[in-house]
Amino acid sequence: MAVLDVRPPNSTTLPTSKADHYVGVHRVFCVGQNYADHVAEMGGDAKADPPIFFMKPASAVVSSGQTIPFPPATENLHHEVELVVVMKRGGANISEADALDHIYGYAAGNDLTRRDIQAAAKSKGAPWDMAKGFDNSAIVGTVHPVAEVGHLNTGAVVCFVDGETRQNGDLNQMIWSVPEIIATLSKLVTLEAGDIIMTGTPAGVGPIVKGQTCVCEIEGLSPAKVTFEA
Ligand code: MG
Repeated sequence: MAVLDVRPPNSTTLPTSKADHYVGVHRVFCVGQNYADHVAEMGGDAKADPPIFFMKPASAVVSSGQTIPFPPATENLHHEVELVVVMKRGGANISEADALDHIYGYAAGNDLTRRDIQAAAKSKGAPWDMAKGFDNSAIVGTVHPVAEVGHLNTGAVVCFVDGETRQNGDLNQMIWSVPEIIATLSKLVTLEAGDIIMTGTPAGVGPIVKGQTCVCEIEGLSPAKVTFEA
């Protein structure tokens, strides 16, 4: 009998809006610079073509409602409210026309970013991994199945910090649509069930400090809420 000498932690799961139903998270893909007003505030001036993809480990995913430690190694932690797509089925070279049929559901998310580390990496042309893929860096709300909420391509995208509105955009401002994102990404990697995609953030990203609560909302979905230890 084979013996597993090293056992990694159990895979991350997220609650769905259906009682006692969960989804397992396989990988976390993220889209950078997918709203023009956010591209502008970050100093860019053009549509990223093809879209920019980066990743976070599945272990970075935190479900909504938790209190988490303030991340280490940053003086400038930023919130980024994003629509999260949860894949129920994978594939390579998925067509735009078939892309929506691969989606289990949607959630609100917060792509937490160590902006100071990202700025240093950008200035050197170095990878963003440690700016994006740190512990507890992907806050994800309750997952709503397509059967319940349909497919989302319009609706408010809002972020509050301690009740103050920081970001206030709309899904209809996304440069790359969800089908375009899935089609493009599946030409780069073979997607799998349980992959989740964070689809980019509108303008208004900004700092969070210790002790604050950040709530990210997508119209029609449950919020992604996190509080940082004081
Ligand atoms: Mg982002």
